[in-house]
Amino acid sequence: MTSSKELFIGLDLGGTNIKAGVVSHDGKLLGRVHISTGHGPDVVTANLIKAAQSAVKRSKINMNAIAAVGIASPGPLSTASGIVYRSANLPGWSNVPLRDRIASSLGKPATLENDAKAAAYGEFWAGVGRNKSVRSMVMLTLGTGVGGGIILNGRLVHGATESAAEIGHTIIVPGGDPCGCGQRGCLEVYTSAHRTGERAVAKLKADDTASSLRAVLKKHGTVSARDVAEHASAGDRIARELWDTMCRYLGIGCVNITHMIDPDMIVLAGGMAAAGNQLLRPVQRHFAKQYWRMAPPQVTITLPCLGGDAGIIGAAGVAIQQWQAVHHN
Ligand SMILES: [Zn+2]
Repeated sequence: MTSSKELFIGLDLGGTNIKAGVVSHDGKLLGRVHISTGHGPDVVTANLIKAAQSAVKRSKINMNAIAAVGIASPGPLSTASGIVYRSANLPGWSNVPLRDRIASSLGKPATLENDAKAAAYGEFWAGVGRNKSVRSMVMLTLGTGVGGGIILNGRLVHGATESAAEIGHTIIVPGGDPCGCGQRGCLEVYTSAHRTGERAVAKLKADDTASSLRAVLKKHGTVSARDVAEHASAGDRIARELWDTMCRYLGIGCVNITHMIDPDMIVLAGGMAAAGNQLLRPVQRHFAKQYWRMAPPQVTITLPCLGGDAGIIGAAGVAIQQWQAVHHN
């Protein structure tokens, strides 16, 4: 165990913003800052350092109190070598040794973790999964794409090539719609926020069935997942069908996850989680309907509770795990 005075920095690198925070050994967030990411590895690295220093200042502590730094980054990346290979969200990046750059600039040991996995670890360690009875948890991040994180017996699963937990690219419809990854019929194609909006537009353009979403399409030229949720909630038939179909695929995805991992908890996170119970209840219902009859399901399907701080807290949590392994074993 760490002593209570050790503090850690969590850095959550996104395509638009960097979030940084100081996190205590037991997962409390002291102070945090958001700044713009900027462009290119050199500028972004400098901004990460700046964000870390600002978070320390905002927390009214000294950098000497920081034991280690955790970085969450879009990938693909290697946690073992600390290198970000490239990223759709970070143009111009190629094999950047991000972990070691941050470590040497701040003079602290650092860890690098995939952003979706870090957020999952954050929710597991200090969020909705913090109860000690939760030992294994899977989190789906439903945003532009569908990311995933798997925690098995308290530890993140990385896999042989660090590509584990790409749950968004499990195939749910054989020969289905093409995915950006090159496969067809991926879970992401049927359940991401981005694709849910696209699906609504395609449906409206396919025929002239009456729908309150038509006014949205006419006004904005597009329809978002949030529009679909709102209009479904208001009773629009097309929106309800679209939303329910999306929830059904998620329910089936949860059945597959349960049979593969047998987690205590599955968390539905990301932008789509803003719909709250409107997302959760139908997914739970479809899950219960589709799940086998060999034994009643034990898994809890739920929503996250850390909001936008899960990445910061999870990145710090990964750093703490590493720090403890070095200092206490
Ligand atoms: Zn895919």
